[in-house]
Amino acid sequence: MHKNKNDRVIIAGAGPVGLTAAYALIRQGIPVLVLESYTDLPTEPRASTFHPPTMKVLETLDVAQELHAMGIEVAKWQYRDLKDGLVAEFDLDSLADITRYPYRLHCEQHKYAQMLLRKAEKSDLCEIRKGRTVLSAKDGDDGVTIVADGPNGQESETGRHLIGCDGGRSAVRQAMGVSFEGQTFEERFLVLTTPFDYAPYGFGGTCYIADPVRWYSMFKVPADGPPGRWRVVSPVTPETSEAEAFDDGQCQARIQAVLAHPEGGDFPILHKNIYQVHQRIAGSFASGNIFLAGDAAHINNPLGGMGLNFGIHDAINLSEKIGAVCRGDATEDIFKLYDRQRRTVAEEYLLAQTAQNKRDLEERDPEMRARRQMEWRDTAANPKKAREFLLRTAMFKSVERAESIQ
Ligand SMILES: Cc1cc2nc3c(=O)[nH]c(=O)nc-3n(C[C@H](O)[C@H](O)[C@H](O)COP(=O)(O)OP(=O)(O)OC[C@H]3O[C@@H](n4cnc5c(N)ncnc54)[C@H](O)[C@@H]3O)c2cc1C
Repeated sequence: MHKNKNDRVIIAGAGPVGLTAAYALIRQGIPVLVLESYTDLPTEPRASTFHPPTMKVLETLDVAQELHAMGIEVAKWQYRDLKDGLVAEFDLDSLADITRYPYRLHCEQHKYAQMLLRKAEKSDLCEIRKGRTVLSAKDGDDGVTIVADGPNGQESETGRHLIGCDGGRSAVRQAMGVSFEGQTFEERFLVLTTPFDYAPYGFGGTCYIADPVRWYSMFKVPADGPPGRWRVVSPVTPETSEAEAFDDGQCQARIQAVLAHPEGGDFPILHKNIYQVHQRIAGSFASGNIFLAGDAAHINNPLGGMGLNFGIHDAINLSEKIGAVCRGDATEDIFKLYDRQRRTVAEEYLLAQTAQNKRDLEERDPEMRARRQMEWRDTAANPKKAREFLLRTAMFKSVERAESIQ
């Protein structure tokens, strides 16, 4: 372990974003101390989409291939209407001229986090302390001091920088005193996992299904191997209790309603999960020696599968800048650029696109719904428009935009 504690970077949170930052830093020879509340990495269903530009940045950590081996390629994705079926299909293969990854890689986020955890734990530069909850953080001229609660009571630790990767309720963000403006949706999202295979019924590996009463988002995940499992996401009204939402009959009705002609009989349901969804962004991602990345910096609805991807891009961007400062290649002013680049794209792309995706799926006005569906059909049928659309929804545009900000 590196001896000088004031050279190290403290990371709050060993979720997928904290571990990306940790691994990106130790690969540059920078020591890290990771403090994490959990004692075992949770495996509950959460994000599972890796967009092409994310696969590319993961090449810089030499983990893209290993991740690829754990995932499934989903090149085609669909917009559907609950009553009318397929509206438009988009094929990421049309971007094969600009990316080695012309698909969404579907892989459960805990597998990604587990892979990085294994690698980071092997490094002498990395100390990961589980069962530690960061309570407070203080910035000073010589670096940061944090206090964490652990099995032996409170511990105080110092480091050069602190990265808050401690999720939506970030204690680091609160210690920075920055705002987290936005909204919390009234409805919660119910995620049902089933081994029933929707592919033979014409469903692409990712589908967004519009309906004024109950929209759906469906996607296939690899699980323990072929044929994989499907996650079916739909909204639950504020009046519905968790017990009602989890009612077996109700859940069966939900996962069968996407088929025009359900075959009868029950589909197995392996997992039920319900969660509150928000659309919020921190007022600043950088203040002195303290930074925010991932859900600590921005949270959004999962429609479009972008939140985790943006978090990974934050972590890589910030780690490169910390590396440049540590090597003497840049001054600390570069951290303002981190804030400008990542907060701008989080606002302009992540929050804007996911909010638009949700509006599109739940549109109640029949005229407006018909118009949007016509636009999707048009876009999919016109190669130039389809390409532009894919460049935006598959995150190429946001990467380009971040790089253009100086
Ligand atoms: C229930 C649920 C379902 C989701 N489903 C989807 C989905 O289907 N699609 C999608 O794109 N996105 C989904 N998301 C969002 C996605 O999972 C996140 O964008 C992603 O996990 C962000 O990674 P992160 O590392 O920034 O934060 P997290 O994964 O939240 O990791 C934060 C880590 O910090 C730890 N921590 C928290 N506070 C402290 C503290 N004070 N001190 C130390 N450690 C702390 C936590 O234990 C956790 O390990 C979902 C989120 C939730 C909550």
